Amino acid sequence: MRPFTYERATDARAAVAAASRPGATFISGGTNLLDLMKLEIEHPSHLVDISRLPLGDIEELPDGGLRIGAQAANSEVSADARVRTSYPVLSEALVAGASGQLRNMASVGGNLLQRTRCPYFYDTTAGCNKRDPGSGCAAIGGFNRTHAILGASDACIATHPSDMAVAMTALEARIELLGADGTARDVAIGDFYLLPGDTPHIETVLRPGEMITGVVLPPPPPGGQLYRKVRDRASYEFALVSVAAVVLVDGETVADARVAFGGVAHKPWRSVAAESALRDRPATMATYRSAAEAATRDAVGRGGNDFKIELARRTLCRTLDQAARAARATRAG
Ligand code: SF4
Repeated sequence: MRPFTYERATDARAAVAAASRPGATFISGGTNLLDLMKLEIEHPSHLVDISRLPLGDIEELPDGGLRIGAQAANSEVSADARVRTSYPVLSEALVAGASGQLRNMASVGGNLLQRTRCPYFYDTTAGCNKRDPGSGCAAIGGFNRTHAILGASDACIATHPSDMAVAMTALEARIELLGADGTARDVAIGDFYLLPGDTPHIETVLRPGEMITGVVLPPPPPGGQLYRKVRDRASYEFALVSVAAVVLVDGETVADARVAFGGVAHKPWRSVAAESALRDRPATMATYRSAAEAATRDAVGRGGNDFKIELARRTLCRTLDQAARAARATRAG
């Protein structure tokens, strides 16, 4: 690990000012950044510790939504009674991520900004356009079992590792930001992440020095919610495919649906095509299968990950079926 300096920020404006210096970066729980520093994949010269900023509250909003401070621990959010009751898809996604110890340390803001777990990104002897722009992509033609099937490019086929962000995408969350000049703005999570294109090292619309201060969840959507994660082992593992679904059933018809995939793309993958294929259609497995076909129409395998295309379809069908059952149970209750 290379030498670096450290400061603990005492307020948000001082933090963004400090982090806008060349070579500076934020640190909170450090569950991803410290590994990246030890492996010399990231080598900031100055760390601005934002973990003690008063940004950890979870607050109800006048419109019925919820604001989650960026410094709230993943474990606090998953255990919050309001999240568990009104946004169960988010609580389920958080519990499906990492381990208990990591969830205690990891912040909401850090979870959103964690880097890919592509093994070549962590192997400094391998070509990786994300780590070292212009050096190639060892995953294309290499070991790519865990890589993207949607939205990838010839420069990068990495996936985004967050479970939480997938649920937030289905919930249409907005991310609150504070800029280096003290200007606040918010961005829909669907617009926050970028696809790799020719610049896979640029992953979000964050500006230099800009800090995530919170996440706003709109009022809970009606219907059933479910997060389903398929992975190689039952705990402490990233998704091969995951699905966050919100399904509203009217009688035997899908009145509305929101669908987001994890583990399949460079960003949490909202599938508008699947949602269109579900709306006003019978709540049956045939409809879910049509939605799954629509969701994966543009999917491309790279050899090792070809199986993910059918896995994504089946995971979506199963998740929709369960979410629709939950919607019916909610209505009956
Ligand atoms: Fe790097 Fe992306 Fe290729 Fe992985 S998939 S080696 S992160 S460029």
